Amino acid sequence: MKQIKLILMALCCVSFIASAQKPTVYVLATGGTIAGEGKTEVNSAYTSGAITVDELLSAVPEINDIATIKGEQVANIGSQDMNDEVWLKLSKRVNELLKKSDVHAIVITHGTDTQEETAYFLNLTVKSDKPVILVGSMRPSTAISADGPRNIYNAVACAVDKSSKGKGVMVVMDDRILGADDLSKTNTLSVGTFQNPNFGELGIVYNGKPVYSREPMKRHTSKSEFDVSHLDKLPRVEIILSYSNATDLFVNAAVNAGVKGIVTAGVGNGNLTTVMQNALAAAVKNGVAVVRSSRIATGPTAQWDEIDDDKLGFSASWFVNPYRARVLLMLALTKTNNYKEIQRMFTEY
Ligand code: ASP
Repeated sequence: MKQIKLILMALCCVSFIASAQKPTVYVLATGGTIAGEGKTEVNSAYTSGAITVDELLSAVPEINDIATIKGEQVANIGSQDMNDEVWLKLSKRVNELLKKSDVHAIVITHGTDTQEETAYFLNLTVKSDKPVILVGSMRPSTAISADGPRNIYNAVACAVDKSSKGKGVMVVMDDRILGADDLSKTNTLSVGTFQNPNFGELGIVYNGKPVYSREPMKRHTSKSEFDVSHLDKLPRVEIILSYSNATDLFVNAAVNAGVKGIVTAGVGNGNLTTVMQNALAAAVKNGVAVVRSSRIATGPTAQWDEIDDDKLGFSASWFVNPYRARVLLMLALTKTNNYKEIQRMFTEY
C-alpha cells in the first residue's frame, strides 16, 4: 500500500513538472467563422462569432499536450465588423501579455474577412519577438470537416516552436504559415484562401511542426516605429477605387467628411482617371495624405511610372495592398503627414 502511494506521488510529481515546463500560450478569441455555428452540418448558412473561446478550445484537447493554454475572449464578432477599438484593445493586451517572462506566445482566433488587416496592424504595433499567430477557419465549427480545430492545433504548434520567433505576426491556416507582410484572402470559400502572393508563404506545418522557408524582409514588431500604447483612436483613412469613368464623387465626399488620408485602389500600376487624380491633388493641398495602391492582386504600385508622385504630393504603396495600405497610413498619420516621410514608411514596412 505504502509503495503504491509512493508511485502515485512520483507520477503526480512527474506530471506536475511536465506541465510546469510546458510553454504558456494565450489564445485571444475575437469571433469569426472559426467560432461560427451553422443550422446543420451541411448547410452553408451560419452565424459568425457564436461560440465562446472555451467551447472553441474544447474541440482541440490535443493542444493541452504541447502548451499550457489560457483562453481570453477579447470580442466575439464577424471580422467584417472588426474596428479600431478592438484593434487597439488587442494590440495593448498582446503587448501587456508578451512583456511577462512566463508568457511564451499568443494565438488569436479571428474571422478571415479582415484577417489581413488585423495581422498587419499587429505586425506594426506589437513590440516583441515572441510568436503572435492569427488563425481562422473557412467552415463553421458545426460543419463536416470543420477546418478550425486543425488550424488551431497547428497555430499552437507553431507558437511553441523556437523557430517561430522574430518572424513578425503570422497566419496559420490550411497547413501553411503566412507572413502578415504580404497577406491576402484570395478565395471567398476555399479553406486554402490565404496567400502571400508577392513574396511566397513563410513555410508549412508538417506533422505538427513548422518548417520555414523564408524570413520576412520588411520592418515589423520590435523593429517597428509605431506605438499605439497611449492612443484611444486612430486617424480616419478611407479607400477609394478607380475604374473606367470613375469620377471625383467619392474623393470629394471623403475630403468633406474630414478624412486625414485616402488610399486609392487604382487601375494597373495605381493609375487613376484624370478627374479623380485632380481631385486627389486638390485634397493634398487641403492637408489630406494620399497613398496610391492598386486593385491588381500582385506586383508593386511603383513610383516614377505614369504618375509623377513628387509633383502631386502622393506616396506609392509598393507591395502593400489597399487594405494593408490603409492600416499603414493610419499608423503613419499618428506621426506625420509629410508625403516623403510616408513614402519612406511604404518602402520599409
Ligand atoms: N465573415 C467571417 C468573418 O470574417 C468569415 C470567416 O471567418 O471566414 O468573420
